[in-house]
Amino acid sequence: MGSVGAKEVPTLLTPDGRRIDGRRLDELRPLSITAGALNQADGSAFVEWGMNKVMAAVYGPREVHPRHLQENNKAIVQCRYNMAAFSVDERKRPGLDRRSQEISKVIAEAFESVIFVEEFPRTSIDVYIEVLQANAGTRCAGVVAASVALADAGIPMVDLLPSVAVGKVAGSIALDLKKEEDNFGEADLPMAMVPQSGRLVLLQMEGHMNREELGQALDLGVQGCRQIHEKMKGALRERYAPSSANPQEANA
Ligand code: ADP
Repeated sequence: MGSVGAKEVPTLLTPDGRRIDGRRLDELRPLSITAGALNQADGSAFVEWGMNKVMAAVYGPREVHPRHLQENNKAIVQCRYNMAAFSVDERKRPGLDRRSQEISKVIAEAFESVIFVEEFPRTSIDVYIEVLQANAGTRCAGVVAASVALADAGIPMVDLLPSVAVGKVAGSIALDLKKEEDNFGEADLPMAMVPQSGRLVLLQMEGHMNREELGQALDLGVQGCRQIHEKMKGALRERYAPSSANPQEANA
């Protein structure tokens, strides 16, 4: 353990390139996705990613509330990202704070750019993201869960939307930061990418990195998104064609 002032800083990277949880710089945390985790919503998904646990539920296309938000030529996408009071170490004050509002807005805009909204004029597609346990990268886990939930609801989209945060930890670019890396690292850069085209539809950054590092971070994020995309497709196959998701089972 090193220390900066009174704050204890954990060793984020060992000399042989291992991170605080033993991962390599380009390794994701374990990710499991369950499509259709809820009965009541039109579509849903549950994501366990490292120590994050995130549920997403989707309704729509349905009537717009409040009515004045209705658009005559397209569906609107409304998103509510919320962190449960029990999702973090110290109880979080319940309710929508500025951070949740900002995250809800950027996620809604990301999905609006991949959903064929013009096919459903005067309707709303409502996306609910509930973070039950948080350990950094919850907006990305929320995007992944919501994207699978939208597919589960049968909403037509250009493609699924994998998402991951890349960052800078102890001077090195690292994939999929966990809490300590987010807290004590130099930068955190969540992104979401349309796999088909490589188009980025969500990109934010906190902290600092130079241009070269930014290029490296984007490359690593793209690589991470491609792996996550495979898992998302696997979760949908598991729900809708379980035998093709597990060919051994089909042969048994
Ligand atoms: P993200 O979860 O998308 O990485 P942030 O970078 O804002 O978003 O947050 C990083 C982590 O900090 C969260 O995943 C969570 O573990 C923690 N965190 C965020 N907001 C709070 C809060 N109000 N109280 C306690 N911990 C929080």
